[in-house]
Amino acid sequence: MSDPRHVDAAEAGLSQWGENASSLLQILIHIQQSLGHSPDTAVQLLSSRLGIEPAVIDGVVTFYSFLSHEPCGRYDIRFSDNIIDRMLGGRESAERLMKQLGLEAGKHDPARGVTIDYTSCTGMGDQGPAALVNGLTLTRLTPERIDVIADLVMRQVPVDEWPRDYFEVEENLLAGDILLDEWYHPGAATQAVQSIGKSTILEQLEKSGLRGRGGAGFSTGMKWRFCAEVEAEQKVVVCNADEGEPGTFKDRLLLQSYADRLYEGMTLCAAVTGAQKGFVYLRGEYRYLLEALEGELQKRRDARLLGESILGQEGFDFDIRIHLGAGAYICGEESALIESLEGKRGVPRIRPPFPVTHGYLGCPTVVNNVETFIAAAGIAENGPEWFRSRGTEASPGTKLLSISGDCDKPGIYEIPFGMTIVEILDRCGASDTQAVQVAGPAGIMLAPEEFGRKIAYEDVPTGGSFMVFDTSRDLLAAARNFMDFFVHESCGFCTPCRVGTTLVNKLLEKIGNGHGTTVDLETVQRMASVMRNTSHCGLGATAANPAVHLIEHFPTMLYERLRHTSFEPSFDLDAALEEARQATGRNDPGAHLQGGGV
Ligand code: SF4
Repeated sequence: MSDPRHVDAAEAGLSQWGENASSLLQILIHIQQSLGHSPDTAVQLLSSRLGIEPAVIDGVVTFYSFLSHEPCGRYDIRFSDNIIDRMLGGRESAERLMKQLGLEAGKHDPARGVTIDYTSCTGMGDQGPAALVNGLTLTRLTPERIDVIADLVMRQVPVDEWPRDYFEVEENLLAGDILLDEWYHPGAATQAVQSIGKSTILEQLEKSGLRGRGGAGFSTGMKWRFCAEVEAEQKVVVCNADEGEPGTFKDRLLLQSYADRLYEGMTLCAAVTGAQKGFVYLRGEYRYLLEALEGELQKRRDARLLGESILGQEGFDFDIRIHLGAGAYICGEESALIESLEGKRGVPRIRPPFPVTHGYLGCPTVVNNVETFIAAAGIAENGPEWFRSRGTEASPGTKLLSISGDCDKPGIYEIPFGMTIVEILDRCGASDTQAVQVAGPAGIMLAPEEFGRKIAYEDVPTGGSFMVFDTSRDLLAAARNFMDFFVHESCGFCTPCRVGTTLVNKLLEKIGNGHGTTVDLETVQRMASVMRNTSHCGLGATAANPAVHLIEHFPTMLYERLRHTSFEPSFDLDAALEEARQATGRNDPGAHLQGGGV
């Protein structure tokens, strides 16, 4: 007998998202939120209604961290676990809660209906330790708060009755510049297309030198022009709000307090390219923002800035829908994101063709991130000179940074491109700094002698993550945390990345355990080179960076931790035989490797 609640949840998901295959992921998220898992009954029902094989649906469920076949219970608690979270005491918080509830990480307790586990960075590096409970963000988890949470779970208090201040996310903007100034007038950028024309807007974007703020730095004007020039019945604008790079949280602020500017930028893009459909792909960790973001969309529809005949212009129809992610870092890669928007596993596509000609459901698609769309709206309203008043020749404008780690003032800073690392450290109150990790785990770890370098595409590019480590920190532990992240987030599609991330991680583990040698360092660099040259997408190509940068930028620290032999096995065979010796009651020399026997 099928459980009627399972059928109801699936039916509600189908009715909200429509009976088409591209809605699959959103329907599964709805079911997960309603039931705490994706039961077989629901999978079977979706299979028959959407025409997708159950095995394919299972493949989607297993791909995303926030979906599961097994029940997670009434309380699904996941502690944010990047290196900054650990420095803030995230592990201790999780262990304290598990101890109080008598639980192990990842194990479900059916009696109390609770599961506690770890997850990748939740974007709260400036206000951790943080966690998600049933997908909603908990911040500043002091030991006192953890004790209260344990009590709430034991008393089975529903999550919506937990103290509201536990769910508070502060803006934490500590320095703004032109992007966040008071220039914005709703509809003005879109209106500019009507008054000065599409080609002038494209020229202004190109003149401004705006490059994608996600880190790759492709010219935004050029991308929009390519899409505008393609003939197609349907075009699509996608905002990548899947801010998954560990240590990055600046889009959180933009989505929380500047969403209308984002929608303006997307509508501007639609006006220029001829798109009718827009999506915001919002990372699952930011689900707490969903309601407010939907509210802002509705306000724009009411003001005729979205929907049919925008600004009274016949034929200018464009609307935006928000899709949630479900805990998969790789979906930040634009072609993986499009696969995910289509309801599938987020496996990167083979390119070319590029999304700008063959994107969402084969339609020409512009994908830009939150910051890029807002900058484009600012340029349309204020002109290219306004934008070029900051930054360098090759990197005009400003960059939002998410600063976390060992500094007095962690938070969000808008800085002009070209600012040096040492100036930024000074601004955020960092002292005794041993290293700065810029651009997340795939980025670069800089040593003090490199702090004169600049944040700019031509020197140190970044999507926005800036993590500070003082001299009390173990950089090898940081690199291992980054490698763990890549092992977990590799989508498994190609061998160099799937196997390489694990092997490099094992070598770092070996070095950390005191068995490393120079041979291991050489092996890491050889493997990194293979991964860089043969991986299918950017994740695999850059996944060995944490290990390589440690070797290149911190050789002294690393060499001090090596054994001075040319090779040391990572596996202690004699120790592993101890169990067998005990079972057979032998402990004579012949039962030891050194004794010549096995
Ligand atoms: Fe997947 Fe890694 Fe290959 Fe990218 S490089 S497709 S993440 S396995």
